Amino acid sequence: MSERENRDLPDVDVIIVGAGLVGASLACALDALGLRSVLVEASAGGAQPAPSFDERNLALGRASMNALASLGVWRHINTPPESIRRVHVSSRGDFGSVVLEAEDYRLDAFGAVVIARELGAALEARLDELQHLQRLRPARVVDVQTGADRARVRVETPDGASRDIEARLLVAADGSHSAIRASLGISAEQHDYQQHLFVATATAEQDHDGCAWERFTPEGPVAVLPLAGGRLGTICTVRADAADAVAALDDDGYRELLQSRFGYRLGRIGRIGKRSHYPLTLIKAEHLVAERTVLVGNAAQTLHPIGAQGFNLGLRDALTLAEVLEAGLREGHEPGNADDLRDYARRREADREETLSFSDGLARLFGMTQPSVRLARSLGFAALNGIPGLAERLAAGAMGFRGDVPRLALGASGMERST
Ligand SMILES: Cc1cc2nc3c(=O)[nH]c(=O)nc-3n(C[C@H](O)[C@H](O)[C@H](O)COP(=O)(O)OP(=O)(O)OC[C@H]3O[C@@H](n4cnc5c(N)ncnc54)[C@H](O)[C@@H]3O)c2cc1C
Repeated sequence: MSERENRDLPDVDVIIVGAGLVGASLACALDALGLRSVLVEASAGGAQPAPSFDERNLALGRASMNALASLGVWRHINTPPESIRRVHVSSRGDFGSVVLEAEDYRLDAFGAVVIARELGAALEARLDELQHLQRLRPARVVDVQTGADRARVRVETPDGASRDIEARLLVAADGSHSAIRASLGISAEQHDYQQHLFVATATAEQDHDGCAWERFTPEGPVAVLPLAGGRLGTICTVRADAADAVAALDDDGYRELLQSRFGYRLGRIGRIGKRSHYPLTLIKAEHLVAERTVLVGNAAQTLHPIGAQGFNLGLRDALTLAEVLEAGLREGHEPGNADDLRDYARRREADREETLSFSDGLARLFGMTQPSVRLARSLGFAALNGIPGLAERLAAGAMGFRGDVPRLALGASGMERST
């Protein structure tokens, strides 16, 4: 074990498997409750950060920004995140578009965009400050056993050494292909969208002016997000059978593709940064809890990134879990108490279902080209602009204020939810 290797690991309260964006955020929230946690992460750290601490652009809703500030993470972000003051949604070939302006909701911004690598570094800096956390890294959980009172995991290090750790609660934050979920026999519904998402930073002739664009095309959605320094975070979906050819394009070829899909709203696209791409699959675990175990983040559900909801939703998993554990502690429960886990699953249900169907609905509806669906889409845009309160409800959802909002997400004053 390379981190705090020789420390004893007495019986701890919580084992979190996976120090990705959600597991690391959860560790921050649990530390504030005084719970003794162990965070196990397979990647080595330093030059080999957690796999999702990469160049993807994360659009964070206001609720997530509030929460990350309360957790002490936001102040460690080095490059100031760029605010989203306006959202523009359109569909190629359909009538109309939707524009949401933050100032119409008496807000300075709906949210902000941060590069996952930078948020990851901020989380790492915050984890280093925590009082009750122990970290095992690089270390992989290879076996899980749960019983009525405890969960036990076997942890293996790259040198082949292994050890067992026990806790009252095990949290699977081990991502889309969660081995914990599989070991516990929790099945997961899966849908392959047959799409790949390409991500790259870019520059353009005109200033983004704090606008996030989402444009739907028959080949899949394109998004352009505002980044600090006038740069753009571009996201382009292509059909899976075209992914290899797109990956092989040089910068000029890729720029041309992006320009044809996005249009000229920002003039000519200029320099294109390094490209990465991801296959897109919907994964939804059948259950969120099992004996002494909770699933959070991508281990619980993996969304199409089109609605920019995956981490926002996973963070709300983490915050709600911390709240439920806090309430349980007040009642004299130990972490992992079955009633509290049921309470957690109940509290997550509505937000999870709504967010999943919102993202999945967008991904599927906008992929359809039949005339009737196109008309419905155009009418949908018209309705969004015309029905009082509809756009507000969508804006609140996009900001992360859905259903049973965790306290930390409401902001320090509890007043930062405007709609
Ligand atoms: C291109 C793209 C753009 C996106 N944009 C947005 C956006 O704008 N807004 C948004 O909210 N979300 C967005 N998302 C989604 C977001 O990135 C994910 O929801 C988020 O990263 C999930 O975090 P996680 O911690 O649950 O899982 P992960 O980030 O996958 O972390 C899981 C961690 O577990 C570790 N691990 C796995 N197995 C083991 C094991 N057995 N033992 C120990 N460790 C293990 C892994 O090494 C990894 O570090 C986007 C996703 C993509 C792909």
